[in-house]
Amino acid sequence: MFCNKCGNQIPEGVQFCAGCGAPTSAAEAPPQAQQPFAQQPYPPPYPQQPYPPQPYPPQYQQPYYAPPPEPDVPNKGLNVLSFFIPLVGFILYATSHQNTPIKAKAALKMSIIGMCVGVGFGVLCGVLGVVIPLAMGGGW
Ligand SMILES: [Zn+2]
Repeated sequence: MFCNKCGNQIPEGVQFCAGCGAPTSAAEAPPQAQQPFAQQPYPPPYPQQPYPPQPYPPQYQQPYYAPPPEPDVPNKGLNVLSFFIPLVGFILYATSHQNTPIKAKAALKMSIIGMCVGVGFGVLCGVLGVVIPLAMGGGW
């Protein structure tokens, strides 16, 4: 049976509720017997929880914890690509340094090296383009 005051479930025959100390129907049997319908329409607020405390967490957490596990290791192909096309390395770093910092950093490094080499090569070509004609005594 249940306590009339707090709704606690209490063993049959106990005179006082263990939860709130109120006298149970066993203690005041006569009045209860006289008005049997009085407690029928409104049963004590039994601890019913139709909605669990956390209804949605699993569904909402799933997308955040479910990204495909990308191996965070330097990618040779991406490094080569970054070396020849530095812009790729920069974009790659910008987009993936949060998920795969090691791989992104490796690509960024290669793109910087590639850029330096490219600039150096360009400068070299420019210098040679000036020096060689001069050295050959040419000129237009
Ligand atoms: Zn009670």
